[in-house]
Amino acid sequence: MADWIEVNTDLHFHGKFAGAVSERMVPEVIAEQAPLKGLQLVCTGDILHAGWQKLVKEQLSQAEGGIMEHKNGTKFLLQTEVEDNNRVHHIVLFPEWSKVEEVREKLKGKCKDLDSDGRQKLWLSGEEIAQIAVDAGCEVGFSHAFTPFFGIYAHYKSYKDCYKSLADKIHFCELGLSADTNMADRIAELHNLTFTSNSDAHSPWPNKLGREFNRLQIKEISFEEVSKALRREKDRKCILNVKFNPAEGKYNQTRCMGCLLFFKVKDAERLGWRCPECKRPIKKGVDQRIGELADIEEGKHPDHRPKCLHIIPLTEIIAIANGIKNAWSQKVQDMWKIYVDRFGNEIKALIDTPIEELAKIDLKTAELVKAFREGKFRYIPGGAGIYGIPVPPGKPLEIKYFESKQVSLKKFSVQ
Ligand SMILES: [Zn+2]
Ligand SMILES: [Zn+2]
Repeated sequence: MADWIEVNTDLHFHGKFAGAVSERMVPEVIAEQAPLKGLQLVCTGDILHAGWQKLVKEQLSQAEGGIMEHKNGTKFLLQTEVEDNNRVHHIVLFPEWSKVEEVREKLKGKCKDLDSDGRQKLWLSGEEIAQIAVDAGCEVGFSHAFTPFFGIYAHYKSYKDCYKSLADKIHFCELGLSADTNMADRIAELHNLTFTSNSDAHSPWPNKLGREFNRLQIKEISFEEVSKALRREKDRKCILNVKFNPAEGKYNQTRCMGCLLFFKVKDAERLGWRCPECKRPIKKGVDQRIGELADIEEGKHPDHRPKCLHIIPLTEIIAIANGIKNAWSQKVQDMWKIYVDRFGNEIKALIDTPIEELAKIDLKTAELVKAFREGKFRYIPGGAGIYGIPVPPGKPLEIKYFESKQVSLKKFSVQ
């Protein structure tokens, strides 16, 4: 029997045929970028879309275990995300091509056009989608569990109310950028599930692709082994979730969609979820939604739950260290490449390389990597669709909350 291997994998992103996705998001570019980041296994994304299927088949070749492979060795799991008739998003992982075709056949007539967008809006319930997926031997779970609009908990109090008779066939969910293990484990029913942390990337650059990933302990890279890891069978399992600090997520805190003021939930409720300053809607944050659903205090985890590590993409740290606004400017990109070339990949540079080694390249970046590893970054949290902002130690941090008793805005300093 083969030895254990540890595989860094990102199980959710979209190709160029899905809405608001970069033209450069094609299998070839994903395959080139993945090893620079430190990912051995990625996913195809959007595999039910005929145009995307064609690209995947042109640019990758068939390997063992239902996996597609690029000539540089990057492996791809057949995967997609679909939207149900209640706007909930589901991730489907396929065991092989024939099953992709089988599911595609069953979905004909169940949506307007399977090939108009990489992520199809289906005229089916979560239960019906799960039935089709399970019948084809797929793994199915829900994406970005808590986000407003498309997360399962935006529409249901329990994931079991969505999947109904198929609820016990669900073995994993995706935390989404705005939540982490500590937050999600406050909901008792989630203790059954394996948490995945995936990028949901819409562009292939290293501040997006693999910005969240999972480390799996498996025997080889195949659908079957990944499936066992998600089910935690025969010692296959996820041994590490790596993700953003949830404060960086776009829906972490309750916030006005117009003027971006933060709100306490009780104020937002009293105001009918409409901002008194600019009259635009207030969007409930993931943190507050979890607070409503929570039935366990924070800090209690099931025995199987792995560690959850928060990271900041190296490009962002380089940009902050050098006072550059755009984390994907040429200068940042050139510097990032130096770290990747020297240390093998971004994950190794960010997590494993001694600070003294990093300091030989750039002292300011090394100091910030040290601060990040020691948890000394603070955050202006995200909300209302805007990402949170990491603030390095020593820099002021101001968060503007709506203050109900005053006309003017009161500024709170956090920490
Ligand atoms: Zn989604
Ligand atoms: Zn407002």
